[in-house]
Amino acid sequence: MTKLLPTSTAGSLPKPSWLAEPEKLWSPWKLQGTELIEAKQDALRITLAEQEHAGIDIVSDGEQTRQHFVTTFIEHLNGVDFEKRETVKIRNRYDASVPSVVGAVSRETPVFVEDARFLRTQTKRPIKWALPGPMTMIDTLHDAHYRSREKLAWEFAAILNQEARELEAAGVDIIQFDEPAFNVFFDEVNDWGIAALEKAIEGLKCETAVHICYGYGIKANTDWKKTLGSEWRQYERIFPKLQASNIDLVSLECHNSHVPMELIELLRGKKVMIGAIDVATNIIETPEEVAETLRKALQFVDADKLYPCTNCGMAPLSRDVARGKLKALGAGAEIIRQELSASLAAE
Ligand SMILES: [Zn+2]
Repeated sequence: MTKLLPTSTAGSLPKPSWLAEPEKLWSPWKLQGTELIEAKQDALRITLAEQEHAGIDIVSDGEQTRQHFVTTFIEHLNGVDFEKRETVKIRNRYDASVPSVVGAVSRETPVFVEDARFLRTQTKRPIKWALPGPMTMIDTLHDAHYRSREKLAWEFAAILNQEARELEAAGVDIIQFDEPAFNVFFDEVNDWGIAALEKAIEGLKCETAVHICYGYGIKANTDWKKTLGSEWRQYERIFPKLQASNIDLVSLECHNSHVPMELIELLRGKKVMIGAIDVATNIIETPEEVAETLRKALQFVDADKLYPCTNCGMAPLSRDVARGKLKALGAGAEIIRQELSASLAAE
């Protein structure tokens, strides 16, 4: 990117009510067959237009063609039985009924590549595509086959690498892996989580990102956040190893979070997507509030490496609120761009 402070979103955006029930995760589709395919493409066109209208520089599909950021990818793999469900604790936080790994996992056909190709035909802007990360995938499954979190993560990393290479060939500029689990299982992250992520990006020439947040703005997550105290230092445990990894960008939750901004210093040299939009509230930030978060981050990230972003996906929000937040993000980044160019001119 030659533009300073290119804006993007962490991932999902709300779906139109004619496609799926709004403000809900895992919302079932309202259409079927070819009607559904067409409707998903229409929704993608709309979310793209809204991003471009709001001044978002690096655009995405807003995850309009998937039900959920982890589940939809796993549904397309062999070796996972969605009928055989077990209750597990996701990210040590809340119980959920999840599918079981019953045999060797593999990917027979591409999962999102057609959707990415379609998005590529619809915009000239750089596009970012989100995939689940290996550790977050294993955390939403019951493993009755490998019986080893690490072994299953390596299998998923190899599968993700196949998908990522095809997404790159389809014209995706940045491939992002969503790893909220990195904020919970610190020892595993350092032992094999980051290594598995590097396996997933092996051989890629496009840019790669990892998104590490405190979760969607759903009750289980907001309740958990209340237990984390006044200073959230989770990132500190994993940043040194991430800084030394091959990942190009790190996407973080910063706005209204209790993450001390100076922790970002530990990533110095990496590009950092600074979450400047809170996705756990319906209150729309003012451009100045966005700018203030970016100003604080600029103390620890070089300006040419700062990518203003949202804290997490906005799927659970109303479309109106999400649109307002996108606009605030675009306008807040523009305030800082002007400040930076003014201070350059004054030098
Ligand atoms: Zn997130």
